[in-house]
Amino acid sequence: MKVYFIGAGPGDPELITIKGKNAIEAAGYCIYTGSLVNKEILQYTSPKAKIFNSASMTLDEVLSVIKEAQEQGENVARIHTGDPSIYGAIQEQMEALEKMGIDYDVIPGVSSFTAAAASLKQELTLPGVSQTVIITRLKGRTPVPETEDLEILAKSKATICIFLSIGQIESIALHLSQFYGKSCSVAVVYKATWKEEKIITGTLDDIGLKVQQSGINKTAVIIVGKVLKKNFDKSKLYDKDFEHGCRKKK
Ligand code: SAH
Repeated sequence: MKVYFIGAGPGDPELITIKGKNAIEAAGYCIYTGSLVNKEILQYTSPKAKIFNSASMTLDEVLSVIKEAQEQGENVARIHTGDPSIYGAIQEQMEALEKMGIDYDVIPGVSSFTAAAASLKQELTLPGVSQTVIITRLKGRTPVPETEDLEILAKSKATICIFLSIGQIESIALHLSQFYGKSCSVAVVYKATWKEEKIITGTLDDIGLKVQQSGINKTAVIIVGKVLKKNFDKSKLYDKDFEHGCRKKK
């Protein structure tokens, strides 16, 4: 018996790994994060599987389902949205499983920020523009350490992907403007890869109003950075004058 923490990907049910899908198919118990995971993912569960939506469950309730699965000798598919390592709240579950002596594995998934980049047809790391991607959020009920204030992160002017914070877009835009400039491009991707996906692009100056007019107030990633201008130096990797481990100069 084993518990698999599975990254379901951002929404499109084809964006789960083969390993993740196989683990779901083989599980007798499935616990999915109903607030965010696309229910179409549940098509991969076995007809005999017992399915639980963790949105209304406490950690103890999740653990007692896992305990029941252990008694039945059944695997558990614990399905999280995107990649479970990003705001997935899996650490506390893994810690509890260690204490219970239950074996587990983590199967990664496509995070919503990479899905958003794909929807935008955008590379997040452009030579000469930014070689760093910051993943962050604003504090909500979960605090964020002061050393990670947006102003501190923004000093780098790196590409920044902001989760869980679309409701605070106006304040984000205001704070980031001081470092990135008001005319810096912003993209907001709502429900990336879902049928309802929406993309809103603008500048730090006008994105707040545009998002407000769109009515988007959840399930969106905000991407800010000069990379969105696509004005960059070409990559050295495919440069004909550049030699590397896999290719000699002609
Ligand atoms: N583990 C997830 C993140 C969970 S936190 C991941 O790797 O993507 C929940 C936040 O993720 C949401 O508030 C939103 O900011 C973002 N999110 C999740 N799915 C999304 C999607 N399909 N499109 C855009 N943002 C998404």
